[in-house]
Amino acid sequence: MSVQPSLRLNDGREMPQLGLGVWQTPADETAQAVKAALDAGYRSVDTAAIYRNEKGVGEGLRAASVARDDVAVTTKLWNEQQGFDSALKAFDDSLGRLGLDYVDLYLIHWPCPSRELYVDSWRALIRLKQEGRARSIGVSNFRAEHLQRIIDETGVTPAVNQIELHPRWQQQAMRDVDAGLGIITESWSPLGQGVLLADPALIAIAAKHGRTPAQVVIRWHLDLGLMVIPKSVTPSRIVENFQVFDFKLDAQDIAAISALDDANGRIGPDPAAFG
Ligand code: NAD
Repeated sequence: MSVQPSLRLNDGREMPQLGLGVWQTPADETAQAVKAALDAGYRSVDTAAIYRNEKGVGEGLRAASVARDDVAVTTKLWNEQQGFDSALKAFDDSLGRLGLDYVDLYLIHWPCPSRELYVDSWRALIRLKQEGRARSIGVSNFRAEHLQRIIDETGVTPAVNQIELHPRWQQQAMRDVDAGLGIITESWSPLGQGVLLADPALIAIAAKHGRTPAQVVIRWHLDLGLMVIPKSVTPSRIVENFQVFDFKLDAQDIAAISALDDANGRIGPDPAAFG
Protein backbone atom coordinates (compact mmCIF):
# COMPACT_ATOMS: atom_id res chain seq x y z
CA MET A 1 0.00 0.00 0.00
CA SER A 2 1.35 3.44 -0.84
CA VAL A 3 1.88 6.03 1.87
CA GLN A 4 -1.14 8.10 2.83
CA PRO A 5 -0.99 11.72 1.63
CA SER A 6 -1.01 14.77 3.87
CA LEU A 7 -1.64 18.44 3.18
CA ARG A 8 0.34 21.40 4.43
CA LEU A 9 -1.83 24.05 6.08
CA ASN A 10 -1.20 27.80 5.89
CA ASP A 11 0.18 27.74 9.45
CA GLY A 12 2.96 25.36 8.39
CA ARG A 13 1.46 22.24 9.99
CA GLU A 14 0.53 19.07 8.13
CA MET A 15 -2.69 17.08 8.36
CA PRO A 16 -3.53 13.69 6.81
CA GLN A 17 -5.75 14.21 3.78
CA LEU A 18 -8.11 11.35 4.71
CA GLY A 19 -9.75 10.94 8.11
CA LEU A 20 -12.71 9.25 9.79
CA GLY A 21 -15.90 11.26 10.36
CA VAL A 22 -18.07 10.38 13.35
CA TRP A 23 -21.26 12.45 12.97
CA GLN A 24 -24.22 10.22 13.90
CA THR A 25 -21.88 7.54 15.23
CA PRO A 26 -23.62 6.47 18.47
CA ALA A 27 -21.63 7.40 21.57
CA ASP A 28 -21.28 3.77 22.61
CA GLU A 29 -19.95 2.71 19.19
CA THR A 30 -17.52 5.56 18.69
CA ALA A 31 -14.52 4.12 20.53
CA GLN A 32 -14.62 0.89 18.50
CA ALA A 33 -15.03 2.78 15.21
CA VAL A 34 -12.10 5.08 16.02
CA LYS A 35 -9.92 2.17 17.11
CA ALA A 36 -10.84 0.23 13.94
CA ALA A 37 -9.86 3.24 11.85
CA LEU A 38 -6.54 3.77 13.64
CA ASP A 39 -5.79 0.04 13.33
CA ALA A 40 -6.51 0.33 9.59
CA GLY A 41 -4.01 3.18 9.24
CA TYR A 42 -6.15 6.33 9.58
CA ARG A 43 -4.39 9.11 11.47
CA SER A 44 -7.18 11.71 11.56
CA VAL A 45 -10.61 11.80 13.24
CA ASP A 46 -13.30 14.47 12.87
CA THR A 47 -15.79 14.97 15.70
CA ALA A 48 -17.71 17.94 17.18
CA ALA A 49 -19.19 18.87 20.53
CA ILE A 50 -22.69 18.50 19.06
CA TYR A 51 -22.00 14.91 17.96
CA ARG A 52 -21.96 13.96 21.65
CA ASN A 53 -19.26 11.36 21.09
CA GLU A 54 -16.01 13.18 21.91
CA LYS A 55 -15.56 10.89 24.92
CA GLY A 56 -15.63 7.83 22.64
CA VAL A 57 -13.11 9.45 20.30
CA GLY A 58 -10.67 9.86 23.19
CA GLU A 59 -11.31 6.29 24.35
CA GLY A 60 -10.73 4.89 20.86
CA LEU A 61 -7.51 6.84 20.59
CA ARG A 62 -6.24 5.47 23.88
CA ALA A 63 -7.32 1.91 22.98
CA ALA A 64 -5.30 1.88 19.75
CA SER A 65 -1.56 1.26 19.63
CA VAL A 66 -0.85 4.69 18.19
CA ALA A 67 0.94 7.63 19.77
CA ARG A 68 -1.30 10.61 20.51
CA ASP A 69 0.98 12.93 18.56
CA ASP A 70 0.61 10.79 15.43
CA VAL A 71 -3.16 11.33 15.22
CA ALA A 72 -4.89 14.55 14.16
CA VAL A 73 -8.02 15.13 16.25
CA THR A 74 -10.53 17.72 15.04
CA THR A 75 -13.48 19.00 17.04
CA LYS A 76 -15.83 21.96 16.65
CA LEU A 77 -17.45 24.82 18.55
CA TRP A 78 -21.24 24.45 18.56
CA ASN A 79 -23.49 27.36 17.59
CA GLU A 80 -24.97 27.98 21.03
CA GLN A 81 -21.51 28.39 22.54
CA GLN A 82 -20.41 31.09 20.13
CA GLY A 83 -18.87 34.22 21.69
CA PHE A 84 -15.39 34.86 23.11
CA ASP A 85 -15.72 33.60 26.70
CA SER A 86 -18.23 30.89 25.89
CA ALA A 87 -16.02 29.54 23.09
CA LEU A 88 -13.06 29.27 25.47
CA LYS A 89 -15.25 27.43 27.97
CA ALA A 90 -16.70 25.14 25.28
CA PHE A 91 -13.18 24.30 24.15
CA ASP A 92 -12.17 23.33 27.70
CA ASP A 93 -15.29 21.16 27.93
CA SER A 94 -14.40 19.43 24.65
CA LEU A 95 -10.84 18.76 25.80
CA GLY A 96 -12.23 17.32 29.03
CA ARG A 97 -14.57 14.95 27.20
CA LEU A 98 -11.82 13.92 24.78
CA GLY A 99 -9.41 13.43 27.68
CA LEU A 100 -6.73 15.33 25.74
CA ASP A 101 -4.62 18.38 26.47
CA TYR A 102 -4.73 19.68 22.90
CA VAL A 103 -6.58 19.17 19.64
CA ASP A 104 -4.98 19.36 16.23
CA LEU A 105 -7.76 21.36 14.62
CA TYR A 106 -10.57 23.37 16.23
CA LEU A 107 -13.32 24.69 13.96
CA ILE A 108 -16.23 27.11 14.32
CA HIS A 109 -19.00 24.71 13.26
CA TRP A 110 -21.32 27.19 11.49
CA PRO A 111 -21.04 30.97 11.01
CA CYS A 112 -24.62 31.58 12.28
CA PRO A 113 -24.63 35.09 10.80
CA SER A 114 -27.82 36.07 12.64
CA ARG A 115 -26.07 35.59 16.00
CA GLU A 116 -23.35 38.11 15.04
CA LEU A 117 -20.81 36.24 17.16
CA TYR A 118 -18.51 34.49 14.73
CA VAL A 119 -15.83 37.22 14.83
CA ASP A 120 -15.72 37.08 18.66
CA SER A 121 -15.61 33.28 18.44
CA TRP A 122 -12.76 33.48 15.96
CA ARG A 123 -10.80 35.70 18.38
CA ALA A 124 -11.17 32.95 20.99
CA LEU A 125 -9.82 30.37 18.55
CA ILE A 126 -6.85 32.66 17.84
CA ARG A 127 -6.17 32.73 21.59
CA LEU A 128 -6.37 28.91 21.76
CA LYS A 129 -3.87 28.61 18.93
CA GLN A 130 -1.51 31.05 20.67
CA GLU A 131 -1.77 28.89 23.78
CA GLY A 132 -0.93 25.80 21.71
CA ARG A 133 -4.05 23.99 22.87
CA ALA A 134 -5.56 24.10 19.39
CA ARG A 135 -2.59 23.40 17.12
CA SER A 136 -4.48 24.68 14.07
CA ILE A 137 -7.72 26.62 13.81
CA GLY A 138 -10.32 26.90 11.11
CA VAL A 139 -13.98 27.20 10.29
CA SER A 140 -16.79 25.18 8.80
CA ASN A 141 -19.65 26.18 6.53
CA PHE A 142 -18.20 29.66 6.03
CA ARG A 143 -19.02 31.50 2.81
CA ALA A 144 -16.84 34.12 1.16
CA GLU A 145 -18.30 37.03 3.14
CA HIS A 146 -17.80 35.27 6.49
CA LEU A 147 -14.20 34.38 5.66
CA GLN A 148 -13.43 37.89 4.50
CA ARG A 149 -14.89 39.42 7.64
CA ILE A 150 -12.87 37.36 10.12
CA ILE A 151 -9.69 37.90 8.11
CA ASP A 152 -10.28 41.66 7.84
CA GLU A 153 -11.12 42.05 11.54
CA THR A 154 -8.39 39.84 13.01
CA GLY A 155 -5.67 39.49 10.36
CA VAL A 156 -5.74 35.71 10.89
CA THR A 157 -6.78 33.42 8.03
CA PRO A 158 -8.37 30.05 8.91
CA ALA A 159 -6.27 27.01 7.99
CA VAL A 160 -9.31 24.97 6.90
CA ASN A 161 -12.90 25.54 5.75
CA GLN A 162 -14.94 22.33 6.14
CA ILE A 163 -17.96 22.45 3.82
CA GLU A 164 -20.54 20.13 2.31
CA LEU A 165 -18.89 18.75 -0.82
CA HIS A 166 -19.55 15.61 -2.88
CA PRO A 167 -20.11 14.77 -6.56
CA ARG A 168 -23.68 16.16 -6.50
CA TRP A 169 -22.59 19.39 -4.76
CA GLN A 170 -19.11 20.11 -5.99
CA GLN A 171 -18.72 23.66 -4.69
CA GLN A 172 -16.32 24.90 -7.36
CA ALA A 173 -16.94 28.56 -6.43
CA MET A 174 -16.27 27.99 -2.74
CA ARG A 175 -13.20 25.88 -3.49
CA ASP A 176 -11.85 28.76 -5.57
CA VAL A 177 -12.51 31.25 -2.75
CA ASP A 178 -10.73 29.02 -0.22
CA ALA A 179 -7.79 28.39 -2.54
CA GLY A 180 -7.44 32.11 -3.27
CA LEU A 181 -7.13 32.77 0.46
CA GLY A 182 -4.71 29.87 1.07
CA ILE A 183 -7.36 27.88 2.96
CA ILE A 184 -7.60 24.09 2.62
CA THR A 185 -11.13 22.94 1.75
CA GLU A 186 -12.33 19.88 3.66
CA SER A 187 -15.32 17.89 2.35
CA TRP A 188 -18.13 16.95 4.70
CA SER A 189 -20.70 14.32 3.69
CA PRO A 190 -18.12 13.36 1.05
CA LEU A 191 -20.13 10.25 0.08
CA GLY A 192 -23.36 12.23 -0.06
CA GLN A 193 -24.30 10.33 3.11
CA GLY A 194 -24.13 7.09 1.15
CA VAL A 195 -27.12 7.73 -1.15
CA LEU A 196 -24.85 8.89 -3.93
CA LEU A 197 -23.09 5.54 -4.08
CA ALA A 198 -25.97 3.96 -6.02
CA ASP A 199 -25.37 6.30 -8.95
CA PRO A 200 -24.87 4.24 -12.16
CA ALA A 201 -21.99 6.45 -13.32
CA LEU A 202 -20.08 5.78 -10.10
CA ILE A 203 -20.90 2.07 -10.22
CA ALA A 204 -19.52 1.91 -13.77
CA ILE A 205 -16.27 3.68 -12.84
CA ALA A 206 -15.87 1.43 -9.82
CA ALA A 207 -16.38 -1.72 -11.92
CA LYS A 208 -13.79 -0.51 -14.44
CA HIS A 209 -11.14 -0.17 -11.71
CA GLY A 210 -12.19 -3.19 -9.65
CA ARG A 211 -13.07 -0.82 -6.78
CA THR A 212 -16.22 0.23 -4.94
CA PRO A 213 -18.19 3.44 -5.58
CA ALA A 214 -17.12 4.71 -2.13
CA GLN A 215 -13.46 4.24 -3.03
CA VAL A 216 -13.97 6.05 -6.35
CA VAL A 217 -15.59 9.03 -4.65
CA ILE A 218 -12.92 9.25 -1.94
CA ARG A 219 -10.22 9.08 -4.63
CA TRP A 220 -11.98 11.95 -6.44
CA HIS A 221 -11.81 14.15 -3.30
CA LEU A 222 -8.13 13.30 -2.82
CA ASP A 223 -7.32 14.14 -6.45
CA LEU A 224 -8.98 17.55 -6.03
CA GLY A 225 -6.58 18.30 -3.15
CA LEU A 226 -9.35 18.26 -0.55
CA MET A 227 -9.29 16.90 2.98
CA VAL A 228 -11.97 14.24 3.25
CA ILE A 229 -13.63 12.54 6.23
CA PRO A 230 -15.97 9.69 5.21
CA LYS A 231 -17.99 8.23 8.06
CA SER A 232 -18.67 4.59 8.79
CA VAL A 233 -19.12 2.47 11.91
CA THR A 234 -18.73 -0.78 9.99
CA PRO A 235 -15.17 -2.12 10.32
CA SER A 236 -15.06 -3.56 6.78
CA ARG A 237 -16.20 -0.23 5.29
CA ILE A 238 -13.76 1.71 7.47
CA VAL A 239 -10.98 -0.43 5.95
CA GLU A 240 -12.44 -0.17 2.43
CA ASN A 241 -12.62 3.63 2.62
CA PHE A 242 -8.90 3.76 3.41
CA GLN A 243 -7.80 1.53 0.52
CA VAL A 244 -7.67 4.37 -1.96
CA PHE A 245 -3.99 5.20 -2.32
CA ASP A 246 -3.08 2.67 -5.00
CA PHE A 247 -5.27 3.52 -7.98
CA LYS A 248 -5.94 6.56 -10.15
CA LEU A 249 -8.98 7.96 -11.91
CA ASP A 250 -8.50 8.79 -15.58
CA ALA A 251 -9.74 11.86 -17.49
CA GLN A 252 -12.88 10.03 -18.61
CA ASP A 253 -13.78 9.09 -15.01
CA ILE A 254 -13.20 12.64 -13.83
CA ALA A 255 -15.40 14.03 -16.63
CA ALA A 256 -18.19 11.58 -15.71
CA ILE A 257 -18.02 12.59 -12.04
CA SER A 258 -17.93 16.30 -12.94
CA ALA A 259 -21.19 15.77 -14.82
CA LEU A 260 -22.94 14.68 -11.58
CA ASP A 261 -22.80 18.21 -10.15
CA ASP A 262 -26.37 19.33 -9.49
CA ALA A 263 -27.73 22.77 -8.55
CA ASN A 264 -30.20 20.96 -6.26
CA GLY A 265 -27.60 18.56 -4.88
CA ARG A 266 -27.12 20.10 -1.46
CA ILE A 267 -28.13 17.82 1.42
CA GLY A 268 -27.54 20.05 4.44
CA PRO A 269 -28.76 23.55 5.32
CA ASP A 270 -27.72 26.81 3.69
CA PRO A 271 -24.97 28.31 5.90
CA ALA A 272 -26.30 31.82 5.28
CA ALA A 273 -29.54 30.96 7.06
CA PHE A 274 -28.65 28.21 9.54
CA GLY A 275 -28.08 28.46 13.26
P1 NAD B 1 -20.73 10.51 4.45
O1 NAD B 1 -20.92 11.20 3.16
O2 NAD B 1 -19.37 10.25 4.96
O3 NAD B 1 -21.57 9.14 4.36
C1 NAD B 1 -21.58 8.24 5.41
C2 NAD B 1 -22.56 7.11 5.11
O4 NAD B 1 -22.20 6.50 3.88
C3 NAD B 1 -22.49 6.00 6.15
O5 NAD B 1 -23.37 6.25 7.22
C4 NAD B 1 -22.90 4.79 5.35
O6 NAD B 1 -24.29 4.74 5.28
C5 NAD B 1 -22.35 5.10 3.99
N1 NAD B 1 -21.03 4.48 3.73
C6 NAD B 1 -19.83 4.81 4.26
N2 NAD B 1 -18.84 4.06 3.75
C7 NAD B 1 -19.44 3.23 2.86
C8 NAD B 1 -18.96 2.21 2.01
N3 NAD B 1 -17.66 1.91 1.94
N4 NAD B 1 -19.87 1.54 1.24
C9 NAD B 1 -21.18 1.84 1.29
N5 NAD B 1 -21.70 2.80 2.07
C10 NAD B 1 -20.83 3.48 2.85
O7 NAD B 1 -21.64 11.29 5.53
P2 NAD B 1 -21.46 12.19 6.82
O8 NAD B 1 -21.28 11.37 8.02
O9 NAD B 1 -22.59 13.15 6.77
O10 NAD B 1 -20.14 13.05 6.56
C11 NAD B 1 -18.85 12.62 6.96
C12 NAD B 1 -18.33 13.42 8.12
O11 NAD B 1 -18.32 14.82 7.82
C13 NAD B 1 -19.22 13.36 9.38
O12 NAD B 1 -19.14 12.13 10.03
C14 NAD B 1 -18.69 14.54 10.15
O13 NAD B 1 -17.45 14.19 10.75
C15 NAD B 1 -18.50 15.55 9.02
N6 NAD B 1 -19.66 16.47 8.88
C16 NAD B 1 -19.48 17.79 9.18
C17 NAD B 1 -20.52 18.68 9.04
C18 NAD B 1 -20.30 20.12 9.36
O14 NAD B 1 -21.27 20.89 9.40
N7 NAD B 1 -19.08 20.54 9.56
C19 NAD B 1 -21.79 18.24 8.60
C20 NAD B 1 -21.95 16.88 8.28
C21 NAD B 1 -20.88 16.02 8.42
